[in-house]
Amino acid sequence: MSGHFAALDAADFPAFEPGTVWLVGAGPGAPGLISLLGYHALGQADAIVYDALVSERLLALANPRAERLYAGKRGGKPSEKQADITLRLIELAGQGKRVCRLKGGDPFMFGRGAEEAMALAARGIPFRIVPGISAGLGGLAYAGIPVTHRDTNHAVIFLTGHDETGAVPASVDWAAIATAAPVIVMFMAVKHLASIAARLLAAGRDPADRVAIVSNAALGHQQVLEATLATLDTLPADIPTPAIVVLGPVSQYRGALDWYVGPHRGAALG
Ligand code: SAH
Repeated sequence: MSGHFAALDAADFPAFEPGTVWLVGAGPGAPGLISLLGYHALGQADAIVYDALVSERLLALANPRAERLYAGKRGGKPSEKQADITLRLIELAGQGKRVCRLKGGDPFMFGRGAEEAMALAARGIPFRIVPGISAGLGGLAYAGIPVTHRDTNHAVIFLTGHDETGAVPASVDWAAIATAAPVIVMFMAVKHLASIAARLLAAGRDPADRVAIVSNAALGHQQVLEATLATLDTLPADIPTPAIVVLGPVSQYRGALDWYVGPHRGAALG
């Protein structure tokens, strides 16, 4: 470690041992949103297996000698099978490499990080989880939306809009979640938004409830769309993805808190 990081010792930055895998959260987009430990991992890795949502600008900070392996998985597009990605991690670790598995947001938030870690654990491959800033938290912050405010909500639900088959998850108790918390943060929800909204409305959710959709959060082309649960059909058909959908009153604070806009945006990327 150099510069400011020299003050941090080995206990803060454990050695990235050969033959181990670190599952690192890259954050939602802007490279500055990776953790110090994640940055440390990028610098030491021999192999970096990264997702579609990881920014090129972040990869530019990695060890230039590291092997870079794309393991993109995006809804609706052909992509490498999860089993193949996991196998690749196992093989690379078996070759004695320091393997950085770089995932968008937080590795344990709807990112299959747990599945990958379970496979490593089952084979006795040492691994470390380096948490990241989830798009469901940091992405909203970049749109001036606090995920909680004392005046509006004491609970939050994180929901995924589709399961492994690509359909709206059948295991979700829609009636229960519709009224369980004032704020529902939805990942991968754009495609099925109309049907999710219909389920929530049928279960008693207020049609006047606010909806904000943050596309490409913390990226230069971030865009925010707003509607209510009842007026979703007024939104454009081609909402850019990736996008986080937030249902509930917290997007009302955007009017005052939308700091990441206009001419300041370039300087605000982080
Ligand atoms: N582990 C990730 C989520 C993986 S699921 C995390 O913690 O953020 C992928 C979904 O995350 C996308 O479909 C989208 O809903 C959301 N997402 C990730 N990056 C995003 C970004 N920059 N802007 C908006 N949504 C994003």
